[in-house]
Order: sequence, then C-alpha cells, then structure tokens
Amino acid sequence: MRDEQKHCEFCGTEYKGKFYSKGSYYTVLQCPQCDLLWSDPLTDERYEESINSHYFGEEIYLRKEKGQKERFKVQIEKVLKLYDPKITKNEIKILDVGSGLGFFLDVCDEMQIYCEGCDINEKVVNYSNKIRNRTRLGTIDGYYEDESFDMIFALNLIEHIPHPKEFISQCARILKPGGLLVLETPIQESLFHLFARLGDHLTGFKMNNYGINTNGHIYKFCNKTFEKFKDLGFETVHREKIGSPLKEIYGKTSYMSVKNKIIMKFVLPVVWLLARVFGMENRAFVIFKNNK
Ligand SMILES: [Zn+2]
Repeated sequence: MRDEQKHCEFCGTEYKGKFYSKGSYYTVLQCPQCDLLWSDPLTDERYEESINSHYFGEEIYLRKEKGQKERFKVQIEKVLKLYDPKITKNEIKILDVGSGLGFFLDVCDEMQIYCEGCDINEKVVNYSNKIRNRTRLGTIDGYYEDESFDMIFALNLIEHIPHPKEFISQCARILKPGGLLVLETPIQESLFHLFARLGDHLTGFKMNNYGINTNGHIYKFCNKTFEKFKDLGFETVHREKIGSPLKEIYGKTSYMSVKNKIIMKFVLPVVWLLARVFGMENRAFVIFKNNK
C-alpha cells in the first residue's frame, strides 16, 4: 500500500506539490495554493504496523499522564467558554477522536461532562475501556449520526490522517450547528520550523528536521491551510500557539543520524527557549465553529 500523493489532498488545486525537502524514502512536498506540507508517499506498507506500534511504550505515555491531564483541563475550559452559553455543561456531548489511553475522557469524567472516544489502535482502546466501556475501535467515518455532538476534540491527530479533508467533512456532518471542532497540531509558523528550514538549506536538503515523514506526521499545517477550513464550513474562533515539553521534542530526534543528533542536542534547548519567549512555539491550538 504505497499511497502516492503528488497533489494537495486538502484544497483540491490542480497544480502539483512543489519540492520542499526529502527524507531517506520519501519527499516532502508543499501545496502551491494552501502551503500545506506533506510526505509523498503519505503511507506505505508499514502503515498498519506504525499504527499498532505507536503506543508501544505504554509506560512512557503513563508517565506523561499528570501533565497531559492538566493541559486537557485548561483546554476544555477554554472551549466551554466559547460555546453557546444557553447550553448547560450537563447537556454537552463531546467526541474525542484519537482518544488513546483515555486521559482526555478521564478529565471529562472529573468535570462531569459527557464524552466518548474512538481510536484505531486496539491496544489503547482496550486499556481505555478497562475503566468503563467508553471508547470505540475505529475511525469516525460514517459511523456517528448527523448533528449528534456539540464538540469534537482531535488533539495531535490531524497530522497523522492520510485524508484530512474527508475527516474535516465528517466532523462538519457529526457536529451540531454551531458545534466546535478543536484541533492541536504542529505548524509551520514556529521557530523550530524556521531553524529546520535554515539547516536544511545550508546542508543541501540533508538535514530534514521538520518532523514530517511517511506513516508518521504525514502533514504539517499552517495559517494559510487553516483559512481553507472555511470552504468546509468552519470558521476560526480561537487560535494560539503552544509548545511541546522539551523532553517530548528530544524524543522525536531518535530517528536522526548521530551527527544531526549531536547538533540538535545543543540547538534544541536554545530554540525551545527562544520560541517560548517570542511566542513562536511549535503547535497550534485552534477552535473552529461549525457554520451550519
Ligand atoms: Zn492545498
């Protein structure tokens, strides 16, 4: 299954993606119209394997539990403030797509908000359902009823989905009119990305540190791509940048060559700190309203 992608799957432009960089077995292309970056091929025969091994280190995820839950709580509170004040908290229904081990669901339980999850990794679904049956194994495609949820959270998910446009359309269908779609995803407008671009150019495309690769983070979005959500019925109501914990960023360098790793070991903490100071952190937290 080698899913080649020469055209932007998101905005439907007729022009082919432009060369941006390359990896050992893939090319990074950029849409000439919406600036979206993607890896060509999007996925290959190792895709299934990569889904199932994604949570391989369960103990690593559990170590992050406390910090993640704190972040989720802050995010949920932000989203609630932007929702229709006539709808009370106990009427709200949330769907968490890519719900993993269920930390987000735990936070909703604590806050007494109805939430269910879905995920394509069987192992994490089983783990999450130990508490109660609350997570479905599968994608959202065609499963949920029209206008059945108030909010959909897809945190650190959209960059992994081979066909994000189809995903966004499904969200538009499932959400109630005025419902909120909440995304968190790595973005191009970050200091890390700028430094990666610089390093890549200086080394003649031998230092691809964008965090984009086949089967992994297939896409990297940007502000211009977010504008295209309008065509799918979504209006941006909130956008901010958030940083990954430094430890997590270090973890992502594991696939690099030793030479790159040594350079990054010194560069990363400096860039991370500067990004914090200048508000150029590496992920966007975006809330869209369904304009049905
Ligand atoms: Zn595009």
